[in-house]
Amino acid sequence: MKKEEINVVLFDLDDTLVNSKKAEYNAICEFKKLYSEFNKIEDVDFAKTWSKITMEIYEKYHNGIISFEELRIERMKGLFNNYSMDISDEDAKMKFKDYQNIYEKNWVLFDDAKEVLENLKDRYKLVILSNGDGKQQRKKIEYTGLNKYFSDIVISSEVGYSKPEKEIFEIACKMINSKPENCIMVGDKYKVDIEGSLKAGIHGIWVNRKKEQSSYKYQIKELNELTKYL
Ligand SMILES: [Mg+2]
Repeated sequence: MKKEEINVVLFDLDDTLVNSKKAEYNAICEFKKLYSEFNKIEDVDFAKTWSKITMEIYEKYHNGIISFEELRIERMKGLFNNYSMDISDEDAKMKFKDYQNIYEKNWVLFDDAKEVLENLKDRYKLVILSNGDGKQQRKKIEYTGLNKYFSDIVISSEVGYSKPEKEIFEIACKMINSKPENCIMVGDKYKVDIEGSLKAGIHGIWVNRKKEQSSYKYQIKELNELTKYL
């Protein structure tokens, strides 16, 4: 990777710029308080259950088995089911709306995100490349104030491909009229963000916050370490 050849930085959104895990944790703990049935359950256990259900069902969504709407219903039904409560689709929908309102109020960036973007914005073209629902991700970008840094936004639900499929990276390059070798992807999921970008001929910097064991050369633990490479 030659630093001087890079002029575009593609950023993943969730858990790279937006601290989605924190938002999710805070939101589900707040949601739990709405139901006395959950009084005896520890916040941390409840959040773990929610996160496990979310991960399992997101897998189905990313594989195209269920829609975004069904994803929401299934997550909520799964949560209540886990505590031996059956709820209808309609009820799950309403409960998810309550959760979503709380979740959105908890959207927050990592502490160093803005500082890093300020530092990059005049030297690179910045693009968001995210797996997820277009409407929700665009709302998140707006709410967290990220929109002012990004000229282009590429979201899986809007382009029909998801990371790590190389097509989504190719679409991003085409959209901004750049060659893959001039782009670098920054993301927190090695298999999704980095393997995907490498397949498309795009460089990748892995934000390895969980400090997973890996010999991959270009990795950082915090966004502010990006200055090593950019
Ligand atoms: Mg991510």
